[in-house]
Amino acid sequence: MDKLIDGVRQFRSAGYSERRELFKALSSGQAPRILFVTCSDSRVAPHLITSSEPGDLFVIRNAGNLVPAYSAQGSGEDATVEYAVAALGVEHIIVCGHSGCGAMGGLLAPESLGALPAVASWLRHARSTAACVHATVSEDADHGHRLKVAVETNVLRQLDNLKTHPSVAAALARHAVKLHGWVYDIGTGSIRSYDPDRQTFVELGEHLHSVERYLRLAAG
Ligand SMILES: [Zn+2]
Repeated sequence: MDKLIDGVRQFRSAGYSERRELFKALSSGQAPRILFVTCSDSRVAPHLITSSEPGDLFVIRNAGNLVPAYSAQGSGEDATVEYAVAALGVEHIIVCGHSGCGAMGGLLAPESLGALPAVASWLRHARSTAACVHATVSEDADHGHRLKVAVETNVLRQLDNLKTHPSVAAALARHAVKLHGWVYDIGTGSIRSYDPDRQTFVELGEHLHSVERYLRLAAG
């Protein structure tokens, strides 16, 4: 905890000071262009891995970077997606999974979740991911390979779930928002992005200096 408090002091004396004008501008409102959905995993740092600044990313984080399909009852994810799209008008939604995801590991081995009933229940939103993995990858396959497929498949299934949200469906119909599937590799710091034409994840490459630049490139 001492380290965290020292970090707060350091932020005030250095990080905040360097961005004084930015924070002053942000104090009157936000206009992020990107909704970034990722895992709660401590090793995934959205702003760091995209070289983004405060105000750039509107973020949803939870175990397994899940976006439950829209429900009339209203979940936290429902409300946050709706606010990002319908109120803030984000132009891009990125679902970013990551290597070595514990949630995806639990999805593949539900028997390991006996002492974690809330996690087991939450992972019901990834049942379509589990079904796809079971349908396409042998149970005998290497665990690392099955986990990699689960992480990638889950990103795509969560993009499908996003489309069930009325705000997203309406924005897609107006071509006002684009959806992106990413996987972050913790060991190398690299990001692969889903290429719908090639139907596979491809390296974003050395040109990825910032998420803004990537999105300009993605927009063609
Ligand atoms: Zn994870």
